[in-house]
Amino acid sequence: MSLDFRRTTLAGALAMVAASCTGSATLPGTLTDVADAATIAPDGTSDASTPGSDCGHEGDPFAEVTLRERVAFLSSNALSGRSPGSSGDLSARASIESRFRCLGLTPGGDDGSYAQAFVDDAGHATANLIGVLPGSDPLVASDIVVVGAHHDHLGIVRGSVHPGANDNASGVTTLLAIAQAISSVATRPRRTIAFVAFGAEESGLEGSKHYAANAPRALPMDRVVYMVNLDMVGSYGVERTVYALGSFPGTPARALLEAHAAEHATIHVSLGEPGDESDHVPFCSVGIPHLFLWTPGGSCYHAACDTADRLDYGPMAEIGHLVTDVTRDLASSTSDLASVRRSRQFTCTGGR
Ligand SMILES: [Zn+2]
Repeated sequence: MSLDFRRTTLAGALAMVAASCTGSATLPGTLTDVADAATIAPDGTSDASTPGSDCGHEGDPFAEVTLRERVAFLSSNALSGRSPGSSGDLSARASIESRFRCLGLTPGGDDGSYAQAFVDDAGHATANLIGVLPGSDPLVASDIVVVGAHHDHLGIVRGSVHPGANDNASGVTTLLAIAQAISSVATRPRRTIAFVAFGAEESGLEGSKHYAANAPRALPMDRVVYMVNLDMVGSYGVERTVYALGSFPGTPARALLEAHAAEHATIHVSLGEPGDESDHVPFCSVGIPHLFLWTPGGSCYHAACDTADRLDYGPMAEIGHLVTDVTRDLASSTSDLASVRRSRQFTCTGGR
């Protein structure tokens, strides 16, 4: 969550709802409708050398022990708060790339890699990481659902490490679990899903703005039909609520959320619109509907006490399950999502 995020009470909640990596290393060429084969190449190799991201944990993607271990790695003192350009940033990115590779996702970044490099406003070299699951239906495989979470945090502030466990190791960890859950099923979704870990969010959505302005050729922004953003999903206990924002009335995602939330009765989901200041904004700004999952951070928001031991892993797993269900159904929806995008006007910032 970026620095100018405004914490307000949810004024516009519209409804309250009581609410194993076998990823194919051989990816069919269904991206060819939109892909430049030279930049999107199958990559099934593995790299077990990166701490916290080996090719183990191929069982339940939402096992609490796995979620806890990934958050603990990303928010460890060794990574020093993952500020852009730091050695912790490099380690975090290496672990995400390694995991994308383990899952058999297709590299969506520069020159056949997972990384889309950029330099932030302060001059630090960093990158977005992009792993792609090609759609299975040639009729709609050129439609893209982006699932995103930012991987950076504040680094060392006034001498103390700000670990960023909730903000946003929780979102990255949940994104990786969702990617595993969806890619490990033999029947791939009809539409293409791009899993994107954004850099430099905290300094002003720099990574997602860079992505929106420089989308990979294989993943053009005018083909993105939905953006799902996970930013701070580990602090459910603060309000015993997860907010699902931007879930606009009348969109397929709204209906899917309402249906699936009822299946996850242990968590309370508040639907509202639209939610601002996170990585969905550059997408919404060009007319892409979004879904923003967020749990309020409480007193440890942007503080040194945002540590792995404080997170609520059970609800985080349920949120991941819920988003998996919604994303998978969106990506295989028989609704004309491209037409929905074109026909509606979306408000990008404001109430919650
Ligand atoms: Zn933040």
